[in-house]
Amino acid sequence: MDRRGILFIISAPSGTGKTTLCKQLTANLPDLWQSVSYTTRKPRPGEEHGREYYFIDEQPFQAMIERNEFVEWARVYGNLYGTPWKWLTEKIDQGIDVLLEIDVQGAMQLKKRFEDSVSIFILPPSIAVLRSRLQTRASDSPEEIQRRLQKVKEEVWSYREYAYIVRNDDLTQSLRDLESIFWSERLKTKWLNMTWIENNFILDDEQKS
Ligand code: ADP
Ligand code: 5GP
Repeated sequence: MDRRGILFIISAPSGTGKTTLCKQLTANLPDLWQSVSYTTRKPRPGEEHGREYYFIDEQPFQAMIERNEFVEWARVYGNLYGTPWKWLTEKIDQGIDVLLEIDVQGAMQLKKRFEDSVSIFILPPSIAVLRSRLQTRASDSPEEIQRRLQKVKEEVWSYREYAYIVRNDDLTQSLRDLESIFWSERLKTKWLNMTWIENNFILDDEQKS
């Protein structure tokens, strides 16, 4: 690979289905790697340390902030979440495309730092559907679900900050939409390497390096 990796940022109101979509997307596209964030939230049933998140306490998280180990971090619903710098920059430098599933505050921080990043906002079809998804997931208390639904009314306006919008109604269609974004972005002219053009169309055999 002779270009830098592309950074894909996905955000969505809680319960929209972004975790489900990101898992399937990275399973379908093995050359897209998802960053694992650090969080002070407790694991949900079925979540594993180092797979969904690195689950750590508040004190070590604060120490990581002080050591400047996060490219961005934010407090979301009372818990801290952060994206590690080192892993992300290593992968991008190696030409690997990276997927981040982060909240709106984090996405805005990253868009400034990585101007070539591709931001995608996922929306549920409606508040009623979102409520039913949060209830089906059964990982939050009724009060917590209410809090998340309330927040959607503010969060939804963030769509204007993102390059793409995907409406997660039918899962298969949403996945197709996300895959289309991924492939189109990869084909953009700006990623084409000049050396490849020179070697194949311009230089004679003896001029090639
Ligand atoms: P998020 O990561 O955005 O908080 P999740 O991926 O945990 O959301 O999804 C919330 C719930 O909605 C889960 O139970 C998931 O199986 C379900 N879900 C996700 N996408 C769809 C969809 N397109 N149609 C129906 N249910 C969905
Ligand atoms: P959850 O607890 O449901 O897994 O995630 C809650 C919110 O935190 C989601 O909006 C998720 O995208 C966001 N989030 C997860 N990891 C990070 C991160 O590293 N940074 C930021 N800013 N948000 C994150």
